[in-house]
Amino acid sequence: MNHDVIVVGGSYSGMAATLQLVRARRSVLVIDAGQRRNRFASHSHGFLGQDGVPPGEIAANARRQLEAYPTLTWLEGRVEAVAGQADEFTVTTADGESHLGRRILLATGVTDQLPAIDGLAQRWGKTVFHCPYCHGYELGQGRIGIVGASPMSIHQAELLTDWGDVTLLVNGALELNEEIRSTLERRGVVIDEARIDRIEGHADVTMVDGRRLSFAGLFVVTRTAPSSPLAETIGCALEETPMGIQIRTNAESKTSVPGVFACGDAARFPHSVSLAVGNGAMTGFHIHRSLLWPETIEPAQAESRAL
Ligand code: FAD
Ligand code: MG
Repeated sequence: MNHDVIVVGGSYSGMAATLQLVRARRSVLVIDAGQRRNRFASHSHGFLGQDGVPPGEIAANARRQLEAYPTLTWLEGRVEAVAGQADEFTVTTADGESHLGRRILLATGVTDQLPAIDGLAQRWGKTVFHCPYCHGYELGQGRIGIVGASPMSIHQAELLTDWGDVTLLVNGALELNEEIRSTLERRGVVIDEARIDRIEGHADVTMVDGRRLSFAGLFVVTRTAPSSPLAETIGCALEETPMGIQIRTNAESKTSVPGVFACGDAARFPHSVSLAVGNGAMTGFHIHRSLLWPETIEPAQAESRAL
């Protein structure tokens, strides 16, 4: 069967696009490897109507609702390759099966590259976070540590002052000139220059000089990379953002390859469930239009754009 659309990545953005397409009675094959970016967190915040709900529950509800539509096919697995061109793409999964589709949607998300600090990765999504809007409120205006990682950490430290008492842990990762220091100090940010040895307990940071600083929570700017090399291997142009690398798309979610669309964290920032869902829904409309009016398949100048 030649599906109208093959969606690679069945998380928030991919499912939001799929919902629009199956409601238009189009045949959609979703192939999903089940590695949602927020799987490390027990609760998801900031998504209207679902505030505080476990991320897996939001996804499971959405999938249940999608599966009520007869034109949906769902496969659990990983896509290894996409070949061909618009109207006749072939998608191959890790188990060697091939599927045909007229359009491809890459909703493959991103992966967070965490700094190599002993104890940090185990606390990712539990007491170490990156997004204040997602996890800042729950810290109850307590002490917050910013783990220095990139120039964006300075911005993160300033931002977090609305959520608690902020200490910027420079950890040898940042260069702070006098202007930056005085800006941070004006906002009440405490600057600690020492190196971090390890993180233990709830969010207790032991410095190499032996001091132990306890926090309600820690924040760190991660560098994000596409979760899948597919976009690159298909030949889609990528672009650099302050967060990392993303797939370049135009205002209609078209990549530089005709017939291949991209949405969600993989294609836009800032990153959140709400924004991934909004962008996914819009992408569903654009894919549907490209099926109805195939003459519009050529991507116009693929420029970056915000949602
Ligand atoms: P993802 O949810 O990352 O899903 C991508 C999907 O594609 C995955 O299922 C993956 O397995 C699949 N995939 C990738 N490659 C392939 C392939 N080759 N074949 C098949 N499948 C593939 N946002 C909020 O709004 N609120 C929060 O509270 C919140 N908390 C977060 C906590 C943490 C620790 C992190 C890291 C992020 C958090 N976020 C939160 C951000 C949120 O997780 C993302 O914005 C959101 O998941 C993006 O959705 P997406 O559909 O674009 O990608
Ligand atoms: Mg998705």
